[in-house]
Amino acid sequence: MALRTIRTIGDEILEKTCREVKQITPRISTLIEDMLETMYDAQGVGLAAPQVGVLKQIVVIDVSEQGDHPIVLINPEIMELSGEQTGQEGCLSVPGKAGIVTRANYCKVKAYNENMEEIIVEGEELLARAMQHEIDHLAGVLYVTKAEGELMNVVSDEEEA
Ligand code: ZN
Repeated sequence: MALRTIRTIGDEILEKTCREVKQITPRISTLIEDMLETMYDAQGVGLAAPQVGVLKQIVVIDVSEQGDHPIVLINPEIMELSGEQTGQEGCLSVPGKAGIVTRANYCKVKAYNENMEEIIVEGEELLARAMQHEIDHLAGVLYVTKAEGELMNVVSDEEEA
């Protein structure tokens, strides 16, 4: 496994649309392992493949306290959104900043896991926010386009995705 370089805002790859993953190759498996390692190293709660320069529909998320519940979402599709939450959001590709974003409070996603088995993941609050944030990345959308008002400066221990 290896750490990958996280692309930051201004890099045009972050605004491109990602392609579907057709099958899990050794290269894809390595990418997923590297994405998890990179996310944990950066103390993020989520990371999408374009953030490490790969235009594929792959997302990793871990919103657990211990960082021991990784979720891998390949070709994720949002099936259901409901409710509303307004709160602070950050992004590993927008270091040192946070913004207030309103998102659905509940999110249900259909995806494939790292073995290409179909999975359904439901989440509320932070997990729902992280899934919506990361799936936006796959469409080339950064949270800054959805933030209300100006971004704030934050210290580095905030949760970023
Ligand atoms: Zn992000």
